[in-house]
Amino acid sequence: MEKEVESRIPKSLITLDGKITDVMRGLLVGGFAYSEASVIYTTWLHGPGHLVYDRYTPNAITWFNRVYYSDQWLREDNLKTWMRYIVHEQRHRHDVHEKGGTSFYFSYLRDYVRQKRIFKDEHKAYLNISWEQKAYEDEGIMLSVMENTDFLFQWEKILSKTEGFTSGFEIGKQFLAPLLSARKFA
Ligand SMILES: [Zn+2]
Repeated sequence: MEKEVESRIPKSLITLDGKITDVMRGLLVGGFAYSEASVIYTTWLHGPGHLVYDRYTPNAITWFNRVYYSDQWLREDNLKTWMRYIVHEQRHRHDVHEKGGTSFYFSYLRDYVRQKRIFKDEHKAYLNISWEQKAYEDEGIMLSVMENTDFLFQWEKILSKTEGFTSGFEIGKQFLAPLLSARKFA
């Protein structure tokens, strides 16, 4: 990995070999009820990752068990942004894992085509894909908790003591899990 890339990854969230850290895995499982295996089997890589990148230049692409994050994402040096984007992509990873990759991407594409017919606009169609709505909803919950509670303060505090799974799981249960029952897209 290039030094430049290496220095920009928040080490409390993603390890240098592209894995979600124990504490962040705890947060995703305890807070959003993502399957733990879907987090463990994800590898995070820097790069375009997929042909669709050239056309849509998304922040990241979840492709089966990999998440490719882009240059524009890598330039973010704000923890809040990394956390909400990680939640978004791990939501896709959870759904890919639960549904099976091939079936997930067929469904995704089918929904995109349907929405494109309705909205006649690529970006609007993308935003209305049901899988995207689920991911944006979870991302929104993460963002709102970071902006409206002392979550980030508590998060830094636990990181100064331990980076274990259990502490991430507990803070997730405390701040995020109570909001899940109100999710519009389960
Ligand atoms: Zn998405």
